[in-house]
Amino acid sequence: MKELKANGACHCGAVQYQVLGEVIVNGLCHCPNCTRSKGASPVHLIALKGEDSVEVTKGEEFLHTRALSSFHLVTCKMCHGPVMQYQEGMGFRAVFPVSLDLGRGDAGSDHGADRIPDAWKPQLHLNYENRLFDWDDGLPKFKVFPPDHPLNSDGTALY
Ligand SMILES: [Zn+2]
Ligand SMILES: [Zn+2]
Repeated sequence: MKELKANGACHCGAVQYQVLGEVIVNGLCHCPNCTRSKGASPVHLIALKGEDSVEVTKGEEFLHTRALSSFHLVTCKMCHGPVMQYQEGMGFRAVFPVSLDLGRGDAGSDHGADRIPDAWKPQLHLNYENRLFDWDDGLPKFKVFPPDHPLNSDGTALY
């Protein structure tokens, strides 16, 4: 279980934060909460142990939290970009590698979503039962989050 320490920011930069914590899951999530709130499927997220694993260092006044049942999405009021998300009472915070400075190098200001280091590539698929289409990428696939009920690429039970 690896530790993640990185700086992150929303799309416009008004909100900046530091991430520090033990990685619970680094994966691609296909659940409707993740995907429909971002307009993309799957969503690459890293879940960190502890409700204090994300510290907002700038722009706290721009934070907006939307709760849909137990799912909480924190965004920036200025650009509506995602900052983090969590499930009430589950003791984690999930952040998005696309918004983190993971040492991807300087590809220029127009390339903010340049490739991430191998160490931070997603390790598995979560909520794979909600996929839009099959993924034959060799990564382990799980029906739910936290990862349980392993599936094949076509969605059938692995065992
Ligand atoms: Zn913003
Ligand atoms: Zn999800």
